[in-house]
Amino acid sequence: MIIVLRPDCKPEQQLAFAEKLKNDYDVKVNTWNGVHSTVLGLIGDTTQIDIEYLDAQDIVESVKRVGEPYKKANRKFHPENTVIEVAGRKIGDGSLHIMAGPCSVESEEQIVGIAESVAKSGATFLRGGAFKPRTSPYAFQGLKAEGLDLMKIARKETGLPIVTEIMRTSHIDMFESVDIIQVGARNMQNFELLKELGKIDKPILLKRGLSATIEEWLMSAEYIMAGGNNKVILCERGIRTYENFTRNTLDVSAIPIIKKLSHLPVIVDPSHASGKSWLVEPLAMAAVAAGADGLIIEVHNDPPHALSDGAQSLTPQQFDSVAKKIFKLKKAL
Ligand code: PEP
Ligand code: MN
Repeated sequence: MIIVLRPDCKPEQQLAFAEKLKNDYDVKVNTWNGVHSTVLGLIGDTTQIDIEYLDAQDIVESVKRVGEPYKKANRKFHPENTVIEVAGRKIGDGSLHIMAGPCSVESEEQIVGIAESVAKSGATFLRGGAFKPRTSPYAFQGLKAEGLDLMKIARKETGLPIVTEIMRTSHIDMFESVDIIQVGARNMQNFELLKELGKIDKPILLKRGLSATIEEWLMSAEYIMAGGNNKVILCERGIRTYENFTRNTLDVSAIPIIKKLSHLPVIVDPSHASGKSWLVEPLAMAAVAAGADGLIIEVHNDPPHALSDGAQSLTPQQFDSVAKKIFKLKKAL
């Protein structure tokens, strides 16, 4: 971290400030006295330093971080890839996982039927929303607790571990037997929820916020990890840009960037990234080619009548064809 002091900063103020930094943050402080200003270089773990606090000091002109503000999620401090084991499946070990299923759980017949067909096509997890974050309060909000029970029935019928979204802290106990807890894009910065999820021993699928930078996304992962839960899987699901042909814009570059900056596994959601079922296949292929550890894809038995996200949902037949191509591509890679 680099701190530029104001030109009118007196030598005794500068010394006292450097001393305070050393004591408060356990860092080394290097000082360069220039002609017009003095620069302090902080060496050590600066992740816990509040940059805004330093910026607010009278003698400080500007502050710049040269290292990343996240530590536990940072590859620099954990060079090996994190591999997350869930129900005998390993995410992040170089294999490819496909989580597939409907946007929302709608009925037992629907979720079990979809689970059976996606399992046959090679999906390794079943996705399905029970608590749905919808833009409109009048839209279908999910079957809630009943939806969770139906997901468990589908798991029992097919053996597929389940992935489903949590929306509030008070529901954590209800998600006890869920295999992977999803934190949706809209909750990526629900810090109270992230802190509570940091206290449990369960994999968390952390979706990227609609307008979150990669650093903000990794800081949200850091919130979970700071509490002691290191089982975080990141999910790129498209971000808001000026382009409105698609629902969001898939940030393919985020995949290799995450791989460079972090040791956490990264999966991609081509369904929410595009909003259109015909775009799911090419985006999924691009994600796998760019190094994703997995995909999460929406599949519905009757997309025109789906209670949410029908336009981006594949039929089980379409999913089968997409999965075949994806596995072929993975093999070729
Ligand atoms: C979902 O997975 O159905 C969902 C709501 O996703 P996101 O949070 O990425 O919008
Ligand atoms: Mn959806």
